[in-house]
Amino acid sequence: MTPDLAEVRATIDLAAAGRVWDAVVVGAGPAGAAAAIALARRGREVLLVDKAAFPREKVCGCCLNRSALASLERLGLGGLPARSGSPALTRLVLAAGGRRAAIALPGGVVLSRAMLDAALVRHAVRAGAAFLPGVRASLHAKAVEADRLDGDARVDSGRATPQPKAAVCRSTGGSGAADGPHSFDRETRTKTIADRGRVGDPHIAAFGCDVARPLASGETPQEDGDFREIQLTAADGSVVIARARVVLAADGLGGRLLDDEPGCEAEVDPRSLIGVGAIVSVDSMAQEAAAFYVPGTVFMCCGRGGYVGQTRTEDGRLDIAAALDPAAMKSASGPAELIAAILKQAGLPAPTDLAAVDWRGTPRLTRRRSPAGRRVLAIGDAAGYVEPFTGEGIAWALASGEAAAPFAEAAMDSWSPAVARGWARAYASVVGRRRRACGWIAAGLRRPRLTGAVVAVLSKWPALARPLAWNIGAAGAGVEEASTHPQT
Ligand SMILES: Cc1cc2nc3c(=O)[nH]c(=O)nc-3n(C[C@H](O)[C@H](O)[C@H](O)COP(=O)(O)OP(=O)(O)OC[C@H]3O[C@@H](n4cnc5c(N)ncnc54)[C@H](O)[C@@H]3O)c2cc1C
Repeated sequence: MTPDLAEVRATIDLAAAGRVWDAVVVGAGPAGAAAAIALARRGREVLLVDKAAFPREKVCGCCLNRSALASLERLGLGGLPARSGSPALTRLVLAAGGRRAAIALPGGVVLSRAMLDAALVRHAVRAGAAFLPGVRASLHAKAVEADRLDGDARVDSGRATPQPKAAVCRSTGGSGAADGPHSFDRETRTKTIADRGRVGDPHIAAFGCDVARPLASGETPQEDGDFREIQLTAADGSVVIARARVVLAADGLGGRLLDDEPGCEAEVDPRSLIGVGAIVSVDSMAQEAAAFYVPGTVFMCCGRGGYVGQTRTEDGRLDIAAALDPAAMKSASGPAELIAAILKQAGLPAPTDLAAVDWRGTPRLTRRRSPAGRRVLAIGDAAGYVEPFTGEGIAWALASGEAAAPFAEAAMDSWSPAVARGWARAYASVVGRRRRACGWIAAGLRRPRLTGAVVAVLSKWPALARPLAWNIGAAGAGVEEASTHPQT
């Protein structure tokens, strides 16, 4: 096992997590880990929590485009793909209606999610974030005033958990902070923020969210609590309440964290496909398939009922990631049969006995929500998703995690609805345009005849595929904008 795939251990226990944090990041996928890295590098006290243990797999095509690679570079993990032996992604084979077109792809790589996500979490820990895996987080409805924290900051609403008195934040001065590795002194911290000159941050100001501005005449100050309470529930039922000046909702496509947050309910497209995936070991691959599915190529086939992408990961395994119509899946009696049918229509070999594969699924893919609630910013899939055909969800997750950091800092310092509006605008500029393009491609894929005709044309004139290749492998101008925010 490579060091990157060793278990990522907790750096804090549940009881110690029940205190006041600058930021609690819920979900340690690419979005949450990127935000935790960015905030920890800015000297913030960050708790990164995930219900899963790491490394963990996830339904994903595992293709990182140039934008994702640029984010990794900025986060200090540019060497990860080479270190992990991840194959360069140079070719897309598009198959539909029995025809195939091979399209050159510009500069991506394939990296299993077990490898990528574990490396990101480990990097967040190195940057100073506390990591607590195996714990499910949920958001309490009300924000909490700082004055209410003039006592024990923790409520134990489940089974008894030791409650050290230490981690208490007092609103009345700097001396109430606790000792310990993750304690903080509010007065000192506020001064540090001012010293760093975050107030008036040009990136934040660009999105109309200069939180330090004086009130205009006639404007009333916004009443709000100083913290959000997050309930942390361990697998054994132990419960602890942590408090955060800001919560980063990075709980992914199926995350429920914001379901009860006013104005943040998810809008799910009822016609949307669902994600299904599995990883097939080298040993269980049929010989013909092992020779056909060469590393460095993503094999994407489209048919009635959805599309299926297959590619080899850094350790030679075959990653299968599909977007399927739930109704077609039901009438085909499950994902194995539907995926086998799509591969057959497209003329690609089945990689293994698909009925014996351990399939994982996602909820409906196409969804969106307002990316900000009270002292809560949504990033990555938690803020919305379209479809995976262009393989850029990881890039969006990383870029939104990075871009959220200055807004999270603004929220910690002084929450106001202007922060939420600013993040909504910034978020739209980070992923909006690419997501629209992805939506158009996804709409085209709903028409198997059209897809078949397109593949037939591309198989004769591959040069016509350049715009598609650009869409799949390119950095995406909108995502690159995320790099313009102030670096630490
Ligand atoms: C079929 C398919 C193929 C895809 N292929 C590609 C591809 O090739 N390239 C690409 O770039 N993107 C691809 N994507 C998209 C990509 O997988 C996602 O966009 C990306 O994983 C989003 O990252 P995230 O950090 O937002 O969420 P996630 O990676 O989903 O992480 C969310 C984390 O939150 C945790 N969590 C959830 N709820 C809680 C809770 N209450 N408490 C604590 N923890 C919680 C989960 O355990 C999880 O670890 C694909 C998606 C699908 C469905």
